[in-house]
Amino acid sequence: MELNEIDELIVELIERIAGDLGVVIYSMDLENEFTDESLSEELGVEINEIRRVLFAFYEIGLASYRRKKDEDTGWMEYFWKINYDREREVLRRELEKTRDKLEEKLRLEDESIYYICINGCVKVRYEEAMEYGFSCPRCNNMLEYLDSREALMKIKEELERINELLESLN
Ligand SMILES: [Zn+2]
Repeated sequence: MELNEIDELIVELIERIAGDLGVVIYSMDLENEFTDESLSEELGVEINEIRRVLFAFYEIGLASYRRKKDEDTGWMEYFWKINYDREREVLRRELEKTRDKLEEKLRLEDESIYYICINGCVKVRYEEAMEYGFSCPRCNNMLEYLDSREALMKIKEELERINELLESLN
């Protein structure tokens, strides 16, 4: 995989978990340790916002921290480090998670047939639809067979793309 493709995926991931501020912080190339306070001052952003981003990074392994008690104030200080070197590993893990979710979805879709109300009130399985006599329990309109082929196709395409990405990351 080309380097800029990895960059794009990383940005996509960061945007999803930590928003625009996450992308800004990640792009700062913070090689050294820093405190959330200093970053807050540097960016002119509320410290809570900074922490929210850093903990989101931490959750997926893109950042780590150590705590130290400030002798003067008695408060805990967080010294953060962004793990740029773990970028690929994090990306691979997140892609694997998405793949597992999609596979689960695919499995569930494959095994059941759904009926939906034409007014959009309910989506039920075949057995349930039969109990309702194929009319909606809320609005009494007819329940229709849901053609899930298109949805399945989309899931399969997405899976294919993820598997390709994973292969090139290995
Ligand atoms: Zn209905």
